Amino acid sequence: RRKKIVQECERLMDNPENIRNIAIAAHIDHGKTTLTDNLLAGAGMISSDLAGEQLAMDTEEDEQERGITIDAANVSMTHEYQETNHLINLIDTPGHVDFGGDVTRAMRAVDGALVVVDAVEGTMPQTETVLRQALREGVKPALFINKVDRLINELQEGPEEMQERLQTVIGDVNELIRGMAEEKYEEEGWQVSVQDGTVAFGSALYNWATSVPQMQATGIDFADIIDYNRNDEIDELREYSPLSTVVLDMVAEHFPNPVKAQPERVPTVWRGDDTTELAEGMRLVDDEGDVVFMVTDIGIDPHAGEIATGRLFSGTLERGQDLYVSGTAGTNRIQSVGIFMGGEREEVERVPAGNIAAVTGLRDAIAGSTVSSSEMTPFESIEHISEPVITKSVEAQNMDDLPKLIETLQQVSKEDPTIRIEINEDTGEHLISGQGELHLEVITQRIERNQGIPVTTGEPIVVFREAVQQPSDTVEGQSPNRHNRFYLTVEPLSKEITETLKRGEASMDMPETERREALQEAGMDKDTSQEIETIHGTNILVDDTKGIQHLNETMELVVEGWEEALDDGPLAAEPVQGTLIRLEDARLHEDAIHRGPAQVIPAVRQAVHGALIDGRISMLEPIQNVRIDVPSEHMGPASGELQGRRGRVDDMYQEGDLMVVEGVAPVDEMIGFASDIRSATEGRASWNTENAGFQVMADNLQPDTIMEIRERKGMKLELPASVDYF
Ligand code: GDP
Repeated sequence: RRKKIVQECERLMDNPENIRNIAIAAHIDHGKTTLTDNLLAGAGMISSDLAGEQLAMDTEEDEQERGITIDAANVSMTHEYQETNHLINLIDTPGHVDFGGDVTRAMRAVDGALVVVDAVEGTMPQTETVLRQALREGVKPALFINKVDRLINELQEGPEEMQERLQTVIGDVNELIRGMAEEKYEEEGWQVSVQDGTVAFGSALYNWATSVPQMQATGIDFADIIDYNRNDEIDELREYSPLSTVVLDMVAEHFPNPVKAQPERVPTVWRGDDTTELAEGMRLVDDEGDVVFMVTDIGIDPHAGEIATGRLFSGTLERGQDLYVSGTAGTNRIQSVGIFMGGEREEVERVPAGNIAAVTGLRDAIAGSTVSSSEMTPFESIEHISEPVITKSVEAQNMDDLPKLIETLQQVSKEDPTIRIEINEDTGEHLISGQGELHLEVITQRIERNQGIPVTTGEPIVVFREAVQQPSDTVEGQSPNRHNRFYLTVEPLSKEITETLKRGEASMDMPETERREALQEAGMDKDTSQEIETIHGTNILVDDTKGIQHLNETMELVVEGWEEALDDGPLAAEPVQGTLIRLEDARLHEDAIHRGPAQVIPAVRQAVHGALIDGRISMLEPIQNVRIDVPSEHMGPASGELQGRRGRVDDMYQEGDLMVVEGVAPVDEMIGFASDIRSATEGRASWNTENAGFQVMADNLQPDTIMEIRERKGMKLELPASVDYF
């Protein structure tokens, strides 16, 4: 039977009109795993006995234990709609925002996002996050309202109340879409609508669903559904209105196929020359074009090794091809190509354009790589969206394990580019940086359990930033031999420009005109945008000098000194963000021997640090939005937990039978929150956090924070000269 399905998938792969590449996106616990398993069971891809056990998607052991989905896993299934068989490729997205990078990558590979919302809880913070990620990538949303059985059985709602509640959820989702979508989406009708059939509702657990088209086809209305549920006739409801039919019909009908989607998606995710044959191949989903494969996920198969999963925009993937991997020098040879079925990889002869493929042999690929048959502009980089905010050291308990640990860490950073790995050359210690405490905990557990390497981990350390608060005067920097001088100023960049840089929407990799446009759109004046020498992180260097002899040939060293000064800010050697530095003037020695690296780099560094201090450089700390759901009798202690952590409570309101507390707190203070809130509320609170960027610390907290970091880094325990403003 399985072989038959594989054969059918192989047949369907060649007809892009009948393919749908989709993701299911949801707030944690809203039922994504249950839904996925039942769709697979309905499509005959896994046995229905297994469906309830949620085995297909949560493949990692720690995911099953925690009951949350962490790694993007992938499945394909077939579905007949309007007498045509469809191939539905489903990419799983993690539900926890600590894993934001994974979600974005998954969104890149799909054309439709099925947003799952719990009928009782309604839209939640991560519903908003995943929806935003989908719309930002040009992915069309549809809505599945889950757990409707609870409205009937637990809340004992009648048809009107039920409709009202569903209407509220739909209204909320549409308000979110309106809030974030550009006008074009509105014209194209990207709002979800019951009448259009872009909304379905039902119960993933009890395996039934309905929608307006389904109600019209079957004549089963709300009152009937309630009857079936209350009179123990759920089997009949399941038979007349099965979950997989209703949901997959919606997918087939409303999500664009690759032929329709790619012409619109390609310009969003790729900035290369659109007049080339390669670009044409991507727009046309041409299986005879150049191979263009976007890797969204790297997984490990104990037998086959690394598996690169992704979207094939053009060409055909086959064994033996030598393909370029972006960001690396050479090519890798494909060892096998396959598709995912019910979570298992099936090798096939070839995978043509428009499909999600699983490839082995791409040793150098990481999640986010562009893999192609000719060298090309890679897909837009997406790593910048979630910056790491927390770091932990890991050491192997037995020195013998060190090589294996290094290998595993390299593996981990390939699989999840939102993780950064650093080695402290002095101590030999490894540092892992990630999105939150849970994120790092999951990674270290994976090393210990899956690799069997006992490790010792350090206390989590929060990553800070340094940024200027005002424009500086002109500051001079002098070389050690006193023959070279640099004069420069610094000013803070606006939040819009900093964000644009952070998201990689303006970078030195893109054509100059596009970069200028992006920066001007973010509010930069035209002159400045034309004078940019280079960009580093979220910092810009502008050369305002005119006709200085030898400056051109020295510029490379100037840039090096500038970058060094920004990587290690003057206060605590944390990265500097959001600055515009203008080189105003320079004196250079005539003789190249006297203006080498040892002279120029320290001179520029001194000038940059001087200007940053003159611009009142301050420490920024990462903050998180926090939402706590808690029974009202525990609300006092719950909000106290937040306020006690230099946090701020922004809102408290009732939702169903629970109180909701929303606020903001520094990441540093949130360490240990999980166990504290548990004991403060007898384990009755559920909570979520979401990284919310960096915020300037209060002046009175700055000196202590700076000293703590300096001490940890072995720096001199004093504030730099002229820092007298705290
Ligand atoms: P995920 O975190 O979004 O993947 O959510 P899961 O699929 O793991 O579901 C979370 C919990 O909700 C589990 O205990 C499920 O059994 C339960 N659940 C999922 N769908 C339904 C549903 O339709 N009705 C009810 N009553 N419970 C459901």
